[in-house]
Amino acid sequence: MDIQNIIAAIRHNRIRITDHADEEAQTDHLSFEENMKPFDRCPICNGKLVEKEVEKLLKGGVHTAVLTVRAEVCLRCGERLYASDTVKRFEQIRHKLELQQVGEFQPLGQSFTVEQEVLDAIDEATTL
Ligand SMILES: [Zn+2]
Repeated sequence: MDIQNIIAAIRHNRIRITDHADEEAQTDHLSFEENMKPFDRCPICNGKLVEKEVEKLLKGGVHTAVLTVRAEVCLRCGERLYASDTVKRFEQIRHKLELQQVGEFQPLGQSFTVEQEVLDAIDEATTL
């Protein structure tokens, strides 16, 4: 891809970040700029992209937040592509979660861990 196409893509706000890249950047502590690429088709399978509202789960420290955002979603494989502004928002929310700055967020149920002995008990119950 040549640089003029990339510049044009940035100007037209066509930069999209895949859900996979966002998760990877989070894991590797990279900024989204290091992952962003412009796409017309799905970068994974070359499928057609449609814009829709999706639910995104964000984790920071012990907390989790659920938000609804616009994304381009591949009709074939389901990969999601986010606008760079959306990924910036993800980073800010993760940061707030890590710092426990959750006062402005709406509580949504509770989160649990399921220990091995509970899993074993479930397995036993389902094999009866
Ligand atoms: Zn795809």
